[in-house]
Amino acid sequence: MSSDATPSTPLDTALQFDAIDLVGRPGSHRRVERTIPAPPREAGGIAMQVPEGQDIAVEAELESVVEGIYVHGTVTAHLEGECSRCLDPVDQDVSARLDELFMYPEKVRAEEKEDSVLFEDDAVNVGPLVRDALAMEADERPLCREDCPGLCGQCGFRMEDDPDHHHDVIDPRFAALQGLLEDDAETKNEEA
Ligand SMILES: [Zn+2]
Ligand SMILES: [Zn+2]
Repeated sequence: MSSDATPSTPLDTALQFDAIDLVGRPGSHRRVERTIPAPPREAGGIAMQVPEGQDIAVEAELESVVEGIYVHGTVTAHLEGECSRCLDPVDQDVSARLDELFMYPEKVRAEEKEDSVLFEDDAVNVGPLVRDALAMEADERPLCREDCPGLCGQCGFRMEDDPDHHHDVIDPRFAALQGLLEDDAETKNEEA
């Protein structure tokens, strides 16, 4: 467990790499590899995430430089989510770059403090890098396929199941609903 000051997520705890052997020895470096099970899905998080328990594989080089410990490598994972049009399952293989300089606190100038990632507790915490890298690569609006026809705007029918699906006559229930919506819009306009 790391310091009490920062509450750590399961990802942070699992992706902490001890680097005390590299401190103050510019030029020395060490390769690290770690595969961890994904933490539970973040509710309200991004659309594509690694399902809980599935592998998140990290490979990185920890390099001692004058200012701190430079970490660069890759994270690979398999993301799952839903098509943003038809809600079918969608998956995505991701290999994302990790790249961060963990600065020795004493090397950070006051005006740079905000933007710097600090080397603390003799370890580099790759968890936040992994989270950011996966989020960067993840499709924001995943599609089961480029031309997914989605759902019928009127009844929610999966267009894929019958491309000829259409509504000739407006369903009376739907017409009633439309009436309600229009009434609602009018009310709002009057209020405004
Ligand atoms: Zn789709
Ligand atoms: Zn329909």
